[in-house]
Amino acid sequence: MNVENFGASERLVNAAYVRQGAQGRRAHELCLRVLLEQGKCPENGWDESTIELFLHELAIMDSNNFLSNCGVGEREGRVASGLVARRHYRLIHGIGRSGDISAVQPKAAGSSLLNKLTNSIVLDIIKLAGVRTVTNCFVVPMATGMSLTLCFLTLRHKRPKAKYIIWPRIDQKSCFKSMITAGFEPVVIENVLEGDELRTDVKAVEAKIQDLGAENVLCVHSTTSCFAPRVPDRLEELAVICSNYDIPHIVNNAYGVQSSRCMHLIQQGARVGRIDAFIQSLDKNFMVPVGGAVIAGFNDSFIQDISKMYPAMSLENLDKHSDMAVTQLGSMLFTRQVSGARVVPLGSLQIVNNYTFKGFMSHTNNYPCAYLNAASAVGMKKQDVDLFLKRLDKCMKTFRKEKSNGKDVPEMDNCTKHTSAGETED
Ligand SMILES: *Cc1c(COP(=O)(O)O)cnc(C)c1O
Repeated sequence: MNVENFGASERLVNAAYVRQGAQGRRAHELCLRVLLEQGKCPENGWDESTIELFLHELAIMDSNNFLSNCGVGEREGRVASGLVARRHYRLIHGIGRSGDISAVQPKAAGSSLLNKLTNSIVLDIIKLAGVRTVTNCFVVPMATGMSLTLCFLTLRHKRPKAKYIIWPRIDQKSCFKSMITAGFEPVVIENVLEGDELRTDVKAVEAKIQDLGAENVLCVHSTTSCFAPRVPDRLEELAVICSNYDIPHIVNNAYGVQSSRCMHLIQQGARVGRIDAFIQSLDKNFMVPVGGAVIAGFNDSFIQDISKMYPAMSLENLDKHSDMAVTQLGSMLFTRQVSGARVVPLGSLQIVNNYTFKGFMSHTNNYPCAYLNAASAVGMKKQDVDLFLKRLDKCMKTFRKEKSNGKDVPEMDNCTKHTSAGETED
């Protein structure tokens, strides 16, 4: 309810009561404002009704919930079951964009906002938990082991010669598998017994680096949280070695966020030496269902590189071409709430994981003309097609009129009249 609607309500219900109701709403909205302005974990946990209100507000910002939406793409937030839609508060578009998990999804402003806030709150919590100088983090919809894999895969491009990962032994399957899955050879460093504790053999780590040659080592992969009698790795010493030999350092902090000891070790390691990223499980630290992790670090650009590596796993390598003159028709359709129409211009260059593609999105280097794609997908209705054609027709008319008036619009002469060029979305 906004001011006008409260005003209109006063014609139906006593104005004093309506004002009280409006006050009640303001209290919820104050919580939202503080969160939006500060991006920090609220000091007092929100009432569930505030959370639900916020989620509904976010959901109606997504294009799949626009009342007059006309989706003609292959991904338009269609779900078969109402149960699934409700369970997700109708946030159906997911997060991120093809090619970058932390990028904004243009069809889904609400989901994008939720994602940014989530990462910002988690960053605040990591700081509060003891890693004060952390600069960047993001939540990934993958288990901790797979998130470690993602970090190793990101490092591969920076260290093309490296084959080995130095790994002080911790007997947990998924962190071991994470190195194999990424295609590297784990070099196991046995721990030393000190009293009844198993501790990192720092000398053995350094000797192994010298033996293998630093450039052949992808990274040191250390662990904080673990079961006794093993104790957390000597992160400070390992971080110093990594710094001295210029070797990346990835820390498995699986259930360490809830432990001030583990968080302190990470903070100290980063202070005296090198830590590139530290990974923690969502379920073990935040009491949510299994299947998520947080990747955090001290260097913005490295953490961003990892988030851009994400599509290597999701198999969605397409990315948006950025700079082109021919955006008009695409954006005309978009502002008329036609989402998903894909406008493919001529010869746009796109770099995906260091491979340069010419004519990207048209599946070939030199397709003869620019064109527009609309998908016919499961869940689309005949009315959707009719509405799309009606809006497209209108856009084309405006478009031609502006062109004949000499306005600066894309060249269409080498195409049939049903093709054009403009901005794409997915
Ligand atoms: C939980 C845990 C992991 C990751 O397990 P996932 O199932 O991949 O989330 C890795 N290392 C250690 C030490 C763990 O406790």
